[in-house]
Amino acid sequence: RKRCFRISTGSKQWDSILNEGFQSCSINEVYGEFRCGKTQLSHTMAVIAQLPKEKGGAEGRVAVIDTEGTWRPERIVQISERFGIDSNAANENILYVRAENSEDQHEQLCGLAEPFASGQYRLLIIDSIMTHFRNDFHGRGELNERQGKLGQHLRKLSQMAEEFNITVLIINQVQSDPGASALFASADGRKPIGGHVLAHASTTRILLRKGRGEERVAKVIDSPDCAEKEATYIITTGGIND
Ligand code: ATP
Ligand code: MG
Repeated sequence: RKRCFRISTGSKQWDSILNEGFQSCSINEVYGEFRCGKTQLSHTMAVIAQLPKEKGGAEGRVAVIDTEGTWRPERIVQISERFGIDSNAANENILYVRAENSEDQHEQLCGLAEPFASGQYRLLIIDSIMTHFRNDFHGRGELNERQGKLGQHLRKLSQMAEEFNITVLIINQVQSDPGASALFASADGRKPIGGHVLAHASTTRILLRKGRGEERVAKVIDSPDCAEKEATYIITTGGIND
């Protein structure tokens, strides 16, 4: 496991609860309610991954599978300015693909094997993992089929993470049952979607929630090598920060 590395989040506090960032060769899942900064983290890490190792990066290219249409090259420009790198080059180092449905998402992922074979890629982001799987399959009747297809997708993901030595960052949503959120108002009551199949595939799970004022809170939920600690962070023009 010597070749494995970690990519910084942009926040020193957040990095510290992760042993200095999200690890390669594994699937890292970040989930939480809307506006907590999941997409902002994705943009921030897409820039940081390109930085030298001493700046928390991995000197690599980045691939993004966007299912929600929320990717913004303008944000990459702003975040590049914070880290003092050329913003055009930063955007050019990001391979962007839009997935139209769950089948397309899997095909797009398989298609990345070719660029990844160049050995230049260090980060793959999927924002978000469940959007299409949730929309393409309906009700209890199609749940088994959905979880089967999802499992296949996640196995491919973890196989690629290992084979190409990349950090995989998947963004996920929380169950949005208003009754449940009233009953479980605490952060621990917020459950990611995707069931056991996703829980099993994710090596590290991070729950995000809103804190006081502009503050946001990240919590390690399930990790083989990190304690269940919390860290606060903020969202700035330059991305995720302390
Ligand atoms: P969703 O579940 O809806 O996808 P999310 O967790 O992905 O939500 P983000 O889009 O990452 O949420 O974060 C939205 C937050 O980021 C908002 O509070 C917004 O004010 C903040 N934000 C977006 N752009 C900037 C910026 N340029 N400077 C500072 N804050 C910003
Ligand atoms: Mg988002």
